[in-house]
Amino acid sequence: MIELIFATNNAHKLDEVRAIVGDAFMIKSLDDINCQDDIPETGDTFEENAKQKTDYLVNKYGLYCFGDDSGLEIEAINNEPGVYSARYSGSRDMERNIDLVLEKLADSENRKARFRTVISLFLNEQQHFFEGAITGTIISERRGAEGFGYDPIFIPDGYDKTFAEMSVDEKNGISHRSIAVKALTGFLKSL
Ligand code: IMP
Repeated sequence: MIELIFATNNAHKLDEVRAIVGDAFMIKSLDDINCQDDIPETGDTFEENAKQKTDYLVNKYGLYCFGDDSGLEIEAINNEPGVYSARYSGSRDMERNIDLVLEKLADSENRKARFRTVISLFLNEQQHFFEGAITGTIISERRGAEGFGYDPIFIPDGYDKTFAEMSVDEKNGISHRSIAVKALTGFLKSL
């Protein structure tokens, strides 16, 4: 069975990918290979950050692997917070990060945004990228208690509730991450 390292220790992401990939590949986490390193994420784009993760693992361990990077892009503020989504306000405190987004959009009629995920895969000496995106609207107050990150202020197009008002399954069925993961798994299954 082909082994692939997923450059994450996020249990939720691991479960999601393993469930979709099925038995065809053995997916291991960073913990599984005893990698405790803080892998750099210093790129200006999701592609660069995702590739930094796989480059790191390929260079250090010579293993086949994939890694992801995601974030929120808001049209009216030049696609910010983008690669800075996790620390937009300078800290990882999501209350402050959301407050900063709402402040910056206070006078903006354009509330269009999208979540994006890019996955980098290194397999059989080749580099591949897979992408998922979901467009929607940033509302001006928080709604809902599920999910994480910017979920309470994002309503996907075609819906009238925020990601944070959806069940985990409902969000995962349509999210940027699941679209990218399905593209990755579709490719793996085609091999
Ligand atoms: P990561 O690359 O998946 O770790 O995502 C980076 C940051 O983007 C997270 O810390 C969140 O702030 C934001 N983000 C990514 N995906 C989501 C999502 O599905 N909902 C809300 N925020 C997200």
